[in-house]
Amino acid sequence: MSYLKKIEYEIVLKDSFWVIRNCPKCGRKTYFKNTKKFRVNANSNKLDIWLIYQCENCKHTLNLSIYERQKISCIPKEAYQYFLENNELFAEMYGKNIQLFQKNKADIDFEKLNYSFVKLHETIEYSDFQEQIIVTINNPHQLKIRPEKQIAEVLELSRNQVKSLLAKGEIEFKLQLPQLLRACLKHTL
Ligand SMILES: [Zn+2]
Repeated sequence: MSYLKKIEYEIVLKDSFWVIRNCPKCGRKTYFKNTKKFRVNANSNKLDIWLIYQCENCKHTLNLSIYERQKISCIPKEAYQYFLENNELFAEMYGKNIQLFQKNKADIDFEKLNYSFVKLHETIEYSDFQEQIIVTINNPHQLKIRPEKQIAEVLELSRNQVKSLLAKGEIEFKLQLPQLLRACLKHTL
């Protein structure tokens, strides 16, 4: 009898995204980081809210728009309070929200990510089929990390080992969704 092992991981982003863009003050491409502060502008009953990023060299600011001309009544009271008091966890949550960067056409620096793989669960089922390991990796922040690299990191293999397993057909994987990678490998490692 052989077994089928299923392991599920999640990629956890530890820090906010960094933005790479031309800084008008520095006159070149620089890195902008999350200041974990918000800017809130109220105009009659409309609100504009931004998350403030800053050039790491000269502190030139880059405002990422969260709300534009939004009715105050449409923003949950608790959230509004968090914006006003620059709640750090809230600012980090926005700093990890890929849609916010896409909406603001701010280029995320995917080379400068600080993440880790957290094992969510592992199950073993016995079966009469060939031994297999199925690895699922959830990528809720849709970090651009090559699938081979993700597999290599969770299985603690080198990228070359993964490439050779792929070539031999001992491992197969596919990106099922931008945020879900599934790999299947014959347990011959
Ligand atoms: Zn600058």
